[in-house]
Amino acid sequence: MVNMDASTFELKKFVIARAEHGKDLIQFVKRLAEERDIEAGTFTAVGALKRATIGFYNQDSHEYQEMEINAPREMVSCIGNISLKDGEPFVHAHVVLADDSGRAMGGHLVEGTVFAGEIQLKILEGPKVERKHDEKTDLSLWKFGENDESHNQ
Ligand code: ZN
Repeated sequence: MVNMDASTFELKKFVIARAEHGKDLIQFVKRLAEERDIEAGTFTAVGALKRATIGFYNQDSHEYQEMEINAPREMVSCIGNISLKDGEPFVHAHVVLADDSGRAMGGHLVEGTVFAGEIQLKILEGPKVERKHDEKTDLSLWKFGENDESHNQ
């Protein structure tokens, strides 16, 4: 029995990139994906943000509560992925940000203005991964396409 909520991929390429100062981190990764025709990938990033908006998904109201952080923060950790939504690369990232006393807060990265950022991106090759509306959570969750035999070797 095949688990339809999981799929296997080949590592196609490993890209490292310097995020552009003053750009939005999510948009920067999205553009990277568009320019390189990346349909599936995972990434991590470290660096610093000038400001950010992070979200918390309220599981009762099914809405994101947004928190604005209008001050510089260390981007202690950022973990994300790229998949397809409505046929376009969609970037999903979570972040931990620390202030000048080392205190951290984190959440779903809505937007974050880059001060400096180093991105390590794994480009994956395999079945299509598309985000589709999920009834239970009201979120756009992954649906995996059929595994092409050539990717199962
Ligand atoms: Zn999220």
